[in-house]
Amino acid sequence: MSSYTRRNFIKRTVVASGTLGFATSCRRLLVTDRNELSRGAIDRLRAKLKGRLILPTDPSYESARRVFYWNAGTERRPQVIVQCAAEKDALRAVEFARRHELEVAARAGGHSHLGWGCSNGLVIDLSGMKRVVIDPLRRTARAEGGVLSGEVARAAGRHGLAPVLGQCPGVGASGLLLGGGLGWLSGLQGASCDNLLSARMVASDGRVLTADSERHPDLFWALRGAGANFGVTTSFECRLHPIGAVTGGDIHYSVRDARLVLRFFRELMEEAPDGLQATLNLTPGDRGVFVSLCHAGSEHEAERTLKSLRAIAPPTKEFVKRQEFAELAERPAATNPANTPPPAFRGIQTVYRDRLSEDVIDIMVDRLGRASAEIIMGISHYLHGQVCRLAPSATAFPLRQAGGLNVRLAYTWNDPGTGQHLTQWADESLRLLRPSADEQIYANFQTYETRNGAAAVYAANFSRLAGIKHKYDPDNFFRRNSNIPQIGMQSWEAREPSTRAAKLAAHLLTNQISCRFHIAFNLRNEPKEGQFFRMIRVQF
Ligand SMILES: Cc1cc2nc3c(=O)[nH]c(=O)nc-3n(C[C@H](O)[C@H](O)[C@H](O)COP(=O)(O)OP(=O)(O)OC[C@H]3O[C@@H](n4cnc5c(N)ncnc54)[C@H](O)[C@@H]3O)c2cc1C
Repeated sequence: MSSYTRRNFIKRTVVASGTLGFATSCRRLLVTDRNELSRGAIDRLRAKLKGRLILPTDPSYESARRVFYWNAGTERRPQVIVQCAAEKDALRAVEFARRHELEVAARAGGHSHLGWGCSNGLVIDLSGMKRVVIDPLRRTARAEGGVLSGEVARAAGRHGLAPVLGQCPGVGASGLLLGGGLGWLSGLQGASCDNLLSARMVASDGRVLTADSERHPDLFWALRGAGANFGVTTSFECRLHPIGAVTGGDIHYSVRDARLVLRFFRELMEEAPDGLQATLNLTPGDRGVFVSLCHAGSEHEAERTLKSLRAIAPPTKEFVKRQEFAELAERPAATNPANTPPPAFRGIQTVYRDRLSEDVIDIMVDRLGRASAEIIMGISHYLHGQVCRLAPSATAFPLRQAGGLNVRLAYTWNDPGTGQHLTQWADESLRLLRPSADEQIYANFQTYETRNGAAAVYAANFSRLAGIKHKYDPDNFFRRNSNIPQIGMQSWEAREPSTRAAKLAAHLLTNQISCRFHIAFNLRNEPKEGQFFRMIRVQF
């Protein structure tokens, strides 16, 4: 916890030692000003780097700190940006951030929905580390941490091979696969992380580790779905697949046919062969409602699918063709169309649902009717095929239930004044779409927190991950991500916090886990009933 965060934390809370039969102790939290950086310290860091160091006074600072989802909610002003040119730069940056207690953000493609690729402390920007080496015989790619998904696809495509990465070429390949990674080929070849063979990582204590099935296997398991939590992945190796030509592109319909298309989309995907993946987009504007698809089966099978899509309702436009997979993989995402200048601001909300139920369809049709032209809703990454054949515990990425999908609510704006009504539309849509129970979140699409914190993201894998986090990053140095808090640390705003505390205590005692028990009370406001505990933290 940096001194900055600690200071805020102390303002709001008082830490008291618990007495529930545990060895109690209370470590004093010190407020320091150690994160005020001296010129000398900055110069010494700069001298050690092969890449660039950027400060708030540099002319390139504004563009260097900018990430894809740029808006008031995601904006951060880093004190230092290290644009790495080599693994050693990442190592130096970690050491520096540690010494000066700076909040760290690692960044590859900068596409995190919550702007996690930026921080108020130090940014470790890997986007200059671009080497990709394809081994056509072993069918593997070795890529540095800053390589984008489209760049891996292009390099692999030259050898008739394809990686399993996402549907947007601008997303960082390492950022995507560390969070799981779902894409056009996931029905055939699993999640991106299922295709990871090894990763090199700079840990918070400055060690450089290689994780694979033999070296640090616990870390290797954790990197495949919760990877941003453990260190800076400077390079990785992944499997490639011989995917020949595919049938891909978009079929558009009138907005009036939205409900019909949504229902047909569900039927199509429930029966989909492994080689088919499709995304549904709904806009109130000229683009209307459109299905984007990739069919990696035979041309004959793909034609059958197209025929059924053309029969739902009269298509208004169609851009579908047989093409090399790499060509499709380099197409911009629907939320990020080519030929349009990038907007000044972007926002998004995403919600995971375990099926496309009638009530979800009703809400989507209703919200589309209330949407303005800047909005694009969608359904992405319908789960089926190979990705669902692995057990949720096979890797840290747990979302492997057939029929699961992500509903996305994306919007862009240029005039700062119009952001508010778009945000309100998205927040209200999200409120209606969130499931009332058993809420899950896909790490790569996380846009909000739930009461269950990281357990909503990692499900049954959470407690195993908490142990691995404790081993490799005990101080939670890497926390700009779908964060696994320090072991046992949980924020509860529960109605019966004392019951929860007692349950936790019973669990720890039953399992003979020796620990220190801290309870922090919320003193910021008059404690209301059910909001008394701010935090319960257990240290092992
Ligand atoms: C337009 C768009 C399309 C998308 N399409 C897909 C899709 O098809 N499939 C899918 O699964 N997801 C998709 N995503 C989500 C995307 O996978 C996640 O947002 C992912 O985390 C972005 O990675 P990044 O490197 O671009 O982002 P960043 O903002 O750079 O990083 C995202 C997170 O990963 C961490 N991180 C990044 N690189 C490293 C590293 N090398 N070492 C350690 N930590 C790192 C960052 O600290 C941060 O927490 C899409 C997002 C956008 C905006």
